[in-house]
Amino acid sequence: MKVFKFGGASVKNAHAVKNVATIIKGYGYGPLVVVISAMAKTTNALERLTALFMEENTDKMMELYHQIRDFHVGLAAELFPRKNHPVFSTLEQSFYHLLYYINEKPGNNYNYEYDRIVSTGELVSSQILSYYLNETGVVNQLFPAQKLIITDAHFRDAHIDWIQTPQTIKSKLLPYLKPASGSNKPSIIVTQGFIGGTSQGFTTTLGREGSDYTAAIIAYSLQASEVTIWKDVPGLLNADPKLFAETLLMPNISYQEAIELAYYGATVIHPKTLKPLLSKNIPLKVKSFYEPDAPGSIINDHSENDHLVPSFIFKFNQVLASIFPKDFSFIAEHNLSRIFSDFAQHGVKINLMQNSAISFSVCFDNDRIKTPALLRDLKKNFTVKYNDNLELITIRHYEKAQTGPVIKNKEVLLEQKSRTTLQMVVRNC
Ligand code: ASP
Ligand code: MG
Repeated sequence: MKVFKFGGASVKNAHAVKNVATIIKGYGYGPLVVVISAMAKTTNALERLTALFMEENTDKMMELYHQIRDFHVGLAAELFPRKNHPVFSTLEQSFYHLLYYINEKPGNNYNYEYDRIVSTGELVSSQILSYYLNETGVVNQLFPAQKLIITDAHFRDAHIDWIQTPQTIKSKLLPYLKPASGSNKPSIIVTQGFIGGTSQGFTTTLGREGSDYTAAIIAYSLQASEVTIWKDVPGLLNADPKLFAETLLMPNISYQEAIELAYYGATVIHPKTLKPLLSKNIPLKVKSFYEPDAPGSIINDHSENDHLVPSFIFKFNQVLASIFPKDFSFIAEHNLSRIFSDFAQHGVKINLMQNSAISFSVCFDNDRIKTPALLRDLKKNFTVKYNDNLELITIRHYEKAQTGPVIKNKEVLLEQKSRTTLQMVVRNC
């Protein structure tokens, strides 16, 4: 049993949906669970729609609603020449539910409204894909993820119920994936990434880019033999191809290395995705949907190749703060615990830290709301100096890397090295 996850770029237009169907066909007749994201940039559009709904900006909201609806119906029209194909009434129904909802008055829980509205992207995308697969001979069953991925009511960043979810997934999906002999039930299942549901029946979402996580939860629950994430890049690259002209493919890294890369800010794999896979030793493949036969990358429990390729990770919009006790006391436990408690209270994650006798330096993501509030609280007990608009550059396995070109025209404000990792906070000159 395998799990395939297709992201938004893999279903960005009718041609792309056809390509996804070809990849699934190439795999055979299951058992397979296909996890699908919203098409193209639909999630961004639905986020804007939610904001307009909350602002009660009806004209703009309706204009955007029609754009989103027309995009999906138009894409379906390219896939299904028959005007009375049932896909159209299914889509109309989904969009009618959305329309009905956004024509009511918004409640005051933004995150609740967000999940209710933004989840439409995955719903309609899965409907189009499931019908299209059936149409082209890949018999499949569409399952609503709200009934599989059971979460709490922490809307927009829902937490998985790790007792209920695997039980539910097993009891609902296994009968389809292991049909009794002689049965003609399909053994390909299509479901939505990113969305879940509470046991009371409310729709939730798992956080942006959460579809990878859905694939991992399903694989964990069914003890899948592997998960494949199909992307528009050849596999795991050692740097962001938008920033580097030349990148290298990493054919194999360990779960631990992938977790480290995600921690430092690499965006290839959603960090939550790796834990369930690691705990059941399920390999994660990253492959290109343009070149389905190319090997791509594999993340598993083999660490012997981790050091072969240096990785470059950039985090932008960083703040570097130097914190000095007002009474010139040394930076020691009592000061540190006060500083950490301020960071924890404001929910600011520390990306890098270093101390001297009388100062403590911290690098963190700049946030329009959190940063000023944090600095205000720190300044009650400390003198704080800071720079913003900085970059944090992390180089894993830097001993094999050329660092010169990375810091060209940059001033290094702080540098830290471990055996495997070099980090630099830099400012553009
Ligand atoms: N559609 C969601 C997003 O764009 C989830 C995903 O693609 O993983 O964030
Ligand atoms: Mg995505």
